[in-house]
Amino acid sequence: MKRIYFDCNATTLMKPAVKDVVMKAMDYPYNASSTHKIGREARRIIEDARNIIAESLNAESNNIIFTSGATESNNTILSTFQNANYDIITTPTEHPSIIYYLKEPIITPVLDNGLIDLDALDKILSERDKPSLLSFILVNNETGVIQPVEEIVKIAKKYKTIIHLDAVQAIGKIEVDFKKLDVDFISIASHKIAGPQGIGAIITAGCKKEYCLDLDLYFKGGQQEKNRRAGTESAALIAGFGKAMELAVKDLSKFQDLSKLRDKIETKILEIAPEAVIFGKTAPRSSNTTCVAIPGIASMTQLIALDLENICVSSGSACSSGTSVISRVLSGMGAHEDVSGCAIRISLGWQSTIEEVDYFLQIWQKMYNHIKS
Ligand code: PMP
Repeated sequence: MKRIYFDCNATTLMKPAVKDVVMKAMDYPYNASSTHKIGREARRIIEDARNIIAESLNAESNNIIFTSGATESNNTILSTFQNANYDIITTPTEHPSIIYYLKEPIITPVLDNGLIDLDALDKILSERDKPSLLSFILVNNETGVIQPVEEIVKIAKKYKTIIHLDAVQAIGKIEVDFKKLDVDFISIASHKIAGPQGIGAIITAGCKKEYCLDLDLYFKGGQQEKNRRAGTESAALIAGFGKAMELAVKDLSKFQDLSKLRDKIETKILEIAPEAVIFGKTAPRSSNTTCVAIPGIASMTQLIALDLENICVSSGSACSSGTSVISRVLSGMGAHEDVSGCAIRISLGWQSTIEEVDYFLQIWQKMYNHIKS
């Protein structure tokens, strides 16, 4: 039986060209710290990938630090500022790698559609009497909601607040120009853009601003990543990340066309179930994501029914699914548990087709009619 994977915000299917690059690099015992020929080859592969990522995101390659993924990137940035006793302001709709890392986060609210409440943010930042860091998710992993980054940055700059963006779900979905964003740090991960798992990066603006801090060494030991992150770099994963980034940027408009499939799903679901609630519908959203609740049918019931038909979707973020915990993100948007507990996230990817969507809708309708009857 055919398997349909609509859980691409959890992780993505690697593109064949990316897999080729990874597999090729795996044929060699690459350690970029070695001075011999194979070591120098590894160094070249890593620096080529770093340059591709820098060019793709309009960042300086010197200011890209490879990590094991976005959890490490987020934790590293937050630990630096948390340890220095900065006020850390964030939203209720962040990824667990942000929200559960912080000891005393100051929460700035979001509106019902998931967008940051700009007036509340302005007020909270204006009340700070010590240096602060604002950390927020650019494209939400559960709802696809895209924050109005320009307006947020404008407010934060009034108060000399350092800004970190969790841009993990933004790459390949919307244009990400690091210099234009004018923020201090972003976190990114390869496995959300059809690259391999276990590799991510921090991009910094180089700490030119007043109050900014150099990142603390999170991993100590060797001098890799210009002394900023110890441990042998994985040339194969980094090469794959570089290729995935190149393709994500090249294929951006194709990815944005997924909105046609996403809209078809939403229209049909609303036709079958007018009581359905689509989270963040009035906000700008990434093209591939819909988070939809059918009040009265628990998320887990829907998930299992679809899984039995070989359709993979998720409830809430993958990091908290597998449990029946109510989505923190949807609660943060003001959703009542009766509704948020009935939400599933459908997230399409580069491989998704109209045929898959039609099949999904057919199965979804069958599931809905069965449960309702
Ligand atoms: N931030 C966001 C928005 C994410 O979606 C994820 C992955 N679920 C992470 C951070 C953590 O990324 P990683 O899996 O690379 O640690």
